[in-house]
Amino acid sequence: GRSYDVTIKRGCVLDDFAHGASEYFESYRAKGAVKARKVPVVADTNTHLIFKAALEQSLASEGLAPDWFVVEPGEGAKSWAVLEQLTDWLLELGITRSDHVIALGGGVVGDLTGFACAVLKRGCEFIQIPTTLLAQVDSSVGGKTAINTRAGKNLIGAFHQPAAVFIDPMVLDTLPDREMRAGYAEVIKYALLGDAVFFDWLSDNGTKVLAREPDALAHAIATSIRAKAAIVAEDERETTGVRALLNLGHTFGHALEAETGFSDRLLHGEAVATGMVLAAQYSARRGDISQEDAKRASTAIGDAGLPANVASLGITCSGSALADHMRHDKKMEGGTLPFLLLKGIGQAYLARDVELADIAEFLGEQL
Ligand code: NAD
Ligand code: ZN
Repeated sequence: GRSYDVTIKRGCVLDDFAHGASEYFESYRAKGAVKARKVPVVADTNTHLIFKAALEQSLASEGLAPDWFVVEPGEGAKSWAVLEQLTDWLLELGITRSDHVIALGGGVVGDLTGFACAVLKRGCEFIQIPTTLLAQVDSSVGGKTAINTRAGKNLIGAFHQPAAVFIDPMVLDTLPDREMRAGYAEVIKYALLGDAVFFDWLSDNGTKVLAREPDALAHAIATSIRAKAAIVAEDERETTGVRALLNLGHTFGHALEAETGFSDRLLHGEAVATGMVLAAQYSARRGDISQEDAKRASTAIGDAGLPANVASLGITCSGSALADHMRHDKKMEGGTLPFLLLKGIGQAYLARDVELADIAEFLGEQL
């Protein structure tokens, strides 16, 4: 599709959103697009409470006053019901295709708002202001938008790229530590899948990132987003297999999430963390990487306070029951499932010869 700017700057939202936004709107106008008139902002009750004053104050300096649509926090907001309320609200506001809807929140708010903008008038502009680490390093960039249905998560959605992304590391100061660690799992993912130097850097600086030390945090976010942008630019719609690299740890992780009922018992990032350890261990079992490298991967995850083994999750089912959650994966072909494995730290690859039966046996050994 099109390209867009991702601004990563301390204070770019909390201190000075209006400035960045007005620069963006200038360039938008320069491209011949109409002047944006309305500023609808979608938030959840937490991000609304925490950031409303700062955003309103900033926008006021540009003579803009936002209209708010506030959802309950949690996955429940990614639903047909909330989508309907949101699109009705936007239509009642009289939104045009050149107005920009702002998504102010984590991946839930971003996915919901992005999807609403994908379908509203066949495509409206939206700006991502991600406020969780997970959203800053992952969901705000790449254009995947979705809601959940009874049959599963993210099954109704669209590719719809944002017009701009504003990442302010300072907004993470209020993020609960557990959410911070869950987002950090996706940071480790970029290192493990394609950047051994970043992996070593994280091994030395991970504690600083988790403690939100400004320089370390900014470096981790920028490196992660650059990695994601490069992969997405190569395979925007997940057709060539390159984008699949971003699923490292996710097939195992998804099975763990399904087994725990997609509940708060196990956050997505936590499931991915354990999933990456499993991918590393399974890679070692096949002889793709050394036991030592598999150990390094699990140490990085354990050191971050993330669950580094399945046993610690208190899951009581069998290996084959866990593997059964993968049977319905849309990528399943015959008895095999394309699987992201490791050839080394920083070298993920898509294995196409993995038998689900073998995965079931392997998982059985881990439980
Ligand atoms: P989330 O949006 O549910 O946010 C987690 C919690 O943190 C919520 O309670 C929220 O209110 C709170 N919160 C957000 N920012 C805060 C802040 N700055 N201070 C204090 N509290 C704050 O969860 P998430 O992990 O950001 O996103 C998960 C969602 O992202 C899932 O629905 C997942 O499917 C989706 N996702 C999408 C993509 C994509 O490419 N589109 C990628 C990964 C994940
Ligand atoms: Zn993920």
